[in-house]
Amino acid sequence: MATRRRTLLKVIVLGDSGVGKTSLMNQYVHKKFSLQYKATIAADFVTKELQIGNKLVTLQIWDTAGQERFQSLGAAFYRGADCCALVYDLNVSKSFDSLDNWHEEFLKQVPSLTLLYTEQANPSDPKTFPFIVLGNKVDIHGGRSRVVSEKKAADWCASNGNIPYFETSAKEDYNVDGPFLTIAKTALANE
Ligand code: GDP
Ligand code: MG
Repeated sequence: MATRRRTLLKVIVLGDSGVGKTSLMNQYVHKKFSLQYKATIAADFVTKELQIGNKLVTLQIWDTAGQERFQSLGAAFYRGADCCALVYDLNVSKSFDSLDNWHEEFLKQVPSLTLLYTEQANPSDPKTFPFIVLGNKVDIHGGRSRVVSEKKAADWCASNGNIPYFETSAKEDYNVDGPFLTIAKTALANE
Protein backbone atom coordinates (compact mmCIF):
# COMPACT_ATOMS: atom_id res chain seq x y z
CA MET A 1 0.00 0.00 0.00
CA ALA A 2 1.34 3.39 -0.90
CA THR A 3 2.08 5.54 2.07
CA ARG A 4 1.36 9.23 2.02
CA ARG A 5 3.88 11.37 3.78
CA ARG A 6 3.63 14.99 4.67
CA THR A 7 6.84 16.90 4.38
CA LEU A 8 7.50 20.39 5.66
CA LEU A 9 10.03 22.46 3.74
CA LYS A 10 11.19 25.83 4.95
CA VAL A 11 11.93 28.20 2.08
CA ILE A 12 13.54 31.54 2.75
CA VAL A 13 13.40 34.42 0.30
CA LEU A 14 16.39 36.78 0.21
CA GLY A 15 17.25 39.86 -1.81
CA ASP A 16 17.46 43.64 -1.61
CA SER A 17 14.53 45.68 -0.39
CA GLY A 18 12.09 46.51 -3.20
CA VAL A 19 12.97 43.67 -5.60
CA GLY A 20 9.54 42.07 -5.11
CA LYS A 21 10.05 39.29 -2.54
CA THR A 22 6.79 39.95 -0.71
CA SER A 23 4.94 40.41 -4.01
CA LEU A 24 6.20 37.09 -5.39
CA MET A 25 5.08 35.30 -2.24
CA ASN A 26 1.68 36.97 -2.28
CA GLN A 27 1.19 36.09 -5.92
CA TYR A 28 2.27 32.50 -5.34
CA VAL A 29 0.24 31.85 -2.20
CA HIS A 30 -2.72 34.25 -2.45
CA LYS A 31 -2.82 35.02 -6.20
CA LYS A 32 -2.80 38.73 -5.38
CA PHE A 33 -0.66 41.67 -6.42
CA SER A 34 -0.55 45.29 -5.28
CA LEU A 35 1.56 48.15 -6.58
CA GLN A 36 1.26 49.81 -3.21
CA TYR A 37 4.60 49.57 -1.46
CA LYS A 38 4.53 47.95 1.97
CA ALA A 39 8.05 47.60 3.36
CA THR A 40 6.92 45.90 6.53
CA ILE A 41 4.73 42.83 6.67
CA ALA A 42 3.91 41.40 10.06
CA ALA A 43 3.73 37.67 9.31
CA ASP A 44 6.89 35.58 9.59
CA PHE A 45 5.82 33.10 6.95
CA VAL A 46 3.02 31.89 4.71
CA THR A 47 2.32 28.29 3.77
CA LYS A 48 1.36 26.55 0.55
CA GLU A 49 0.39 22.90 0.16
CA LEU A 50 1.71 20.97 -2.83
CA GLN A 51 1.17 17.43 -4.03
CA ILE A 52 4.40 16.06 -5.52
CA GLY A 53 4.15 12.42 -6.56
CA ASN A 54 2.70 10.64 -3.54
CA LYS A 55 3.98 13.24 -1.14
CA LEU A 56 2.06 16.07 0.42
CA VAL A 57 4.46 18.93 0.80
CA THR A 58 3.91 22.02 2.89
CA LEU A 59 6.08 24.89 1.77
CA GLN A 60 6.66 27.29 4.64
CA ILE A 61 7.85 30.44 2.92
CA TRP A 62 9.56 33.01 5.11
CA ASP A 63 9.47 36.68 4.26
CA THR A 64 11.42 39.48 5.87
CA ALA A 65 9.76 42.42 7.62
CA GLY A 66 11.99 44.87 5.80
CA GLN A 67 15.12 44.20 7.88
CA GLU A 68 16.98 43.26 4.69
CA ARG A 69 17.72 46.99 4.33
CA PHE A 70 20.09 46.59 7.26
CA GLN A 71 21.32 43.09 6.37
CA SER A 72 20.43 41.72 9.78
CA LEU A 73 17.79 39.06 9.50
CA GLY A 74 18.70 37.13 12.62
CA ALA A 75 19.34 33.46 13.24
CA ALA A 76 15.65 32.46 13.52
CA PHE A 77 15.05 33.51 9.93
CA TYR A 78 17.75 31.18 8.63
CA ARG A 79 17.37 28.34 11.12
CA GLY A 80 16.24 25.07 9.56
CA ALA A 81 16.01 26.47 6.03
CA ASP A 82 15.67 23.70 3.44
CA CYS A 83 15.72 25.94 0.36
CA CYS A 84 16.69 29.50 -0.48
CA ALA A 85 15.28 31.75 -3.22
CA LEU A 86 17.55 34.68 -4.15
CA VAL A 87 15.63 37.52 -5.79
CA TYR A 88 16.82 40.57 -7.71
CA ASP A 89 15.10 43.20 -9.86
CA LEU A 90 16.43 42.86 -13.40
CA ASN A 91 15.91 46.60 -13.90
CA VAL A 92 18.19 47.51 -10.97
CA SER A 93 21.83 46.66 -11.35
CA LYS A 94 22.69 47.01 -7.66
CA SER A 95 20.12 44.38 -6.69
CA PHE A 96 21.90 41.93 -9.00
CA ASP A 97 25.31 42.83 -7.54
CA SER A 98 23.86 42.10 -4.09
CA LEU A 99 23.25 38.45 -4.99
CA ASP A 100 26.85 37.69 -3.99
CA ASN A 101 26.26 39.15 -0.53
CA TRP A 102 22.96 37.35 0.02
CA HIS A 103 24.41 34.07 -1.18
CA GLU A 104 27.46 34.46 1.09
CA GLU A 105 25.35 35.60 4.01
CA PHE A 106 23.18 32.51 3.66
CA LEU A 107 26.19 30.18 3.51
CA LYS A 108 27.76 31.95 6.50
CA GLN A 109 24.67 31.11 8.56
CA VAL A 110 24.84 27.48 7.48
CA PRO A 111 27.08 25.99 10.20
CA SER A 112 24.52 26.89 12.85
CA LEU A 113 21.62 25.52 10.86
CA THR A 114 19.88 22.17 10.78
CA LEU A 115 19.93 21.82 7.03
CA LEU A 116 19.31 18.72 4.99
CA TYR A 117 22.54 16.84 5.35
CA THR A 118 23.06 13.88 3.08
CA GLU A 119 25.64 13.00 0.49
CA GLN A 120 23.50 14.80 -2.07
CA ALA A 121 22.81 17.88 0.01
CA ASN A 122 25.77 18.93 2.06
CA PRO A 123 25.12 22.40 3.45
CA SER A 124 28.81 23.20 3.47
CA ASP A 125 28.79 22.65 -0.29
CA PRO A 126 26.75 25.36 -2.02
CA LYS A 127 26.67 23.23 -5.16
CA THR A 128 24.27 20.75 -3.60
CA PHE A 129 22.00 23.09 -1.68
CA PRO A 130 18.63 23.96 -3.27
CA PHE A 131 18.96 27.59 -4.28
CA ILE A 132 17.02 29.30 -7.03
CA VAL A 133 17.56 32.74 -8.49
CA LEU A 134 14.64 34.89 -9.60
CA GLY A 135 15.10 37.93 -11.86
CA ASN A 136 11.85 39.74 -11.11
CA LYS A 137 9.86 42.57 -12.78
CA VAL A 138 10.41 41.28 -16.31
CA ASP A 139 7.09 42.97 -17.20
CA ILE A 140 8.38 46.55 -16.85
CA HIS A 141 8.34 48.27 -20.27
CA GLY A 142 7.97 44.86 -21.83
CA GLY A 143 11.49 44.02 -20.60
CA ARG A 144 13.07 47.00 -22.42
CA SER A 145 14.22 48.72 -19.22
CA ARG A 146 16.21 45.75 -18.01
CA VAL A 147 19.85 46.39 -17.14
CA VAL A 148 20.89 42.81 -16.34
CA SER A 149 21.04 40.56 -19.36
CA GLU A 150 19.76 37.02 -19.22
CA LYS A 151 23.28 35.82 -20.06
CA LYS A 152 24.89 37.76 -17.21
CA ALA A 153 22.39 36.30 -14.72
CA ALA A 154 22.71 32.79 -16.12
CA ASP A 155 26.52 33.05 -15.93
CA TRP A 156 26.33 34.04 -12.27
CA CYS A 157 24.07 31.06 -11.57
CA ALA A 158 26.36 28.70 -13.49
CA SER A 159 29.46 29.82 -11.61
CA ASN A 160 27.74 29.47 -8.24
CA GLY A 161 26.97 25.78 -8.55
CA ASN A 162 24.49 25.68 -11.43
CA ILE A 163 21.66 27.37 -9.61
CA PRO A 164 18.39 27.23 -11.59
CA TYR A 165 17.48 30.67 -12.96
CA PHE A 166 14.02 32.09 -13.70
CA GLU A 167 12.73 35.43 -14.91
CA THR A 168 9.48 36.35 -13.24
CA SER A 169 6.75 38.93 -12.85
CA ALA A 170 4.84 39.00 -9.60
CA LYS A 171 2.64 41.65 -11.20
CA GLU A 172 1.58 39.57 -14.20
CA ASP A 173 1.82 36.21 -12.43
CA TYR A 174 4.44 35.17 -14.96
CA ASN A 175 6.68 32.21 -14.03
CA VAL A 176 5.80 32.37 -10.33
CA ASP A 177 4.56 28.82 -9.62
CA GLY A 178 7.28 27.00 -11.57
CA PRO A 179 10.30 28.14 -9.54
CA PHE A 180 8.71 27.22 -6.22
CA LEU A 181 7.81 23.79 -7.59
CA THR A 182 11.39 23.35 -8.82
CA ILE A 183 12.85 24.25 -5.46
CA ALA A 184 10.46 21.90 -3.64
CA LYS A 185 11.31 19.02 -5.97
CA THR A 186 15.04 19.61 -5.60
CA ALA A 187 14.80 19.70 -1.82
CA LEU A 188 12.72 16.50 -1.82
CA ALA A 189 15.21 14.73 -4.05
CA ASN A 190 17.86 15.49 -1.44
CA GLU A 191 15.92 13.93 1.42
P1 GDP B 1 10.32 43.47 -1.29
O1 GDP B 1 10.85 44.65 -0.53
O2 GDP B 1 11.43 42.70 -1.94
O3 GDP B 1 9.42 42.59 -0.48
O4 GDP B 1 9.47 44.05 -2.50
P2 GDP B 1 7.88 44.26 -2.62
O5 GDP B 1 7.20 42.96 -2.88
O6 GDP B 1 7.40 45.04 -1.45
O7 GDP B 1 7.78 45.10 -3.97
C1 GDP B 1 8.36 46.39 -4.08
C2 GDP B 1 7.60 47.20 -5.13
O8 GDP B 1 7.76 46.60 -6.42
C3 GDP B 1 6.09 47.24 -4.89
O9 GDP B 1 5.62 48.54 -5.27
C4 GDP B 1 5.54 46.19 -5.82
O10 GDP B 1 4.21 46.47 -6.21
C5 GDP B 1 6.51 46.28 -6.99
N1 GDP B 1 6.65 44.98 -7.69
C6 GDP B 1 6.92 43.78 -7.14
N2 GDP B 1 7.00 42.83 -8.07
C7 GDP B 1 6.78 43.43 -9.27
C8 GDP B 1 6.73 42.96 -10.62
O11 GDP B 1 6.91 41.78 -10.93
N3 GDP B 1 6.49 43.91 -11.58
C9 GDP B 1 6.28 45.24 -11.28
N4 GDP B 1 6.05 46.06 -12.29
N5 GDP B 1 6.32 45.70 -10.02
C10 GDP B 1 6.57 44.82 -9.02
MG1 MG C 1 8.99 42.66 1.56
